[in-house]
Amino acid sequence: MTLTDGQGRKHDYLRISITDRCNLRCVYCMGEEGIEQLKHEDILSYEDILKVVRAGAELGISKIRITGGEPLVRRGVVDLIRNIAATPGISDLAMTTNGILLDKYAGELKKAGLKRVNISLDSMQPEKYNNITRCGKLDQALRGIEAALDNKLNPVKLNVVLMKGVNDDEIIDFLELTRKKTLHVRFIEYMPIGDHDCGYRDHYLPLTYIEEVAIKAGFPLTPVPLPGGAGPAESYTIAGGQGTIGLIHPISKHFCDTCNRLRLTAEGNLKACLYWQDETPVQPVINDNEALKDLIQEVLKSKPVEHQMGCDGKCGSVNPGSMRSMSKTGG
Ligand code: SAM
Ligand code: SF4
Repeated sequence: MTLTDGQGRKHDYLRISITDRCNLRCVYCMGEEGIEQLKHEDILSYEDILKVVRAGAELGISKIRITGGEPLVRRGVVDLIRNIAATPGISDLAMTTNGILLDKYAGELKKAGLKRVNISLDSMQPEKYNNITRCGKLDQALRGIEAALDNKLNPVKLNVVLMKGVNDDEIIDFLELTRKKTLHVRFIEYMPIGDHDCGYRDHYLPLTYIEEVAIKAGFPLTPVPLPGGAGPAESYTIAGGQGTIGLIHPISKHFCDTCNRLRLTAEGNLKACLYWQDETPVQPVINDNEALKDLIQEVLKSKPVEHQMGCDGKCGSVNPGSMRSMSKTGG
């Protein structure tokens, strides 16, 4: 079965946030303090998440990504992975994590059926990493990356949010990393998202900057197929590279016309677009599989044509964008 939205875009990908909590506090994602967290009883149970996965799979969803907040801080995540992996129709199961706890869980996750991981790593300098994450220890994240490689969670992708004046001096170091290891570094444009002053205005840089720096430094980028299948990244390699370099530019060259994603927030709301405020709770129909399938289709029928991030209100919309931070929506 093929699941399409009101624009005829095929949707086969569900991203599930299983918690809004996190063991880090990245500057672009969360405010420094005073973050209101969901109460435990308001978080969608694993049992109910599985009902959404099953209904989605019956409609044509084949790829699932578990995210958060930090997914590895929620107890029982390995069992959830095992149950999703065993769901008929699900052929790809991935996780986005900051990697801090991956050293502990990579082996169990692999055995449970997790196929691949994206690990956020915005700096390879300990002090800077600690500043960006407001508390993270680089060596823990690096151990998580090694554990992912050792346990063949393949491909291992590193998410790097490019920030002017913060980590734009490390572009060459990240390119070099793809020469030495089978790691896939994906530079992501800084998105103005959330209810805190996320620093977008001061630190946004379009990803054309990566190409400029690479060429100047004598590292021309050669296009290659995307590791691990389709996605929004443009993929490249440098000469002698074992890994690849991905460029994801949601702002300067958005990819809404090929968007295939539906999101489920930690409290159980379906969101067809990361940007807009529209959300629909699954709870009222969670025990009725047919009604749940109808709801998923309804949400997609009204999916907006595109987001308006970075527009500064000049795109003519009457509706404001979402004020949820990525940690609450699930990045
Ligand atoms: N905690 C996990 C992690 O950090 O990988 C998963 C959740 S996090 C919200 C998912 C992804 O969203 C991360 O790769 C993070 O870098 C990205 N992200 C969060 N806020 C962002 C922003 N304002 N602009 C661009 N990417 C952002
Ligand atoms: Fe936590 Fe991930 Fe947000 Fe960083 S980006 S604060 S690790 S949820």
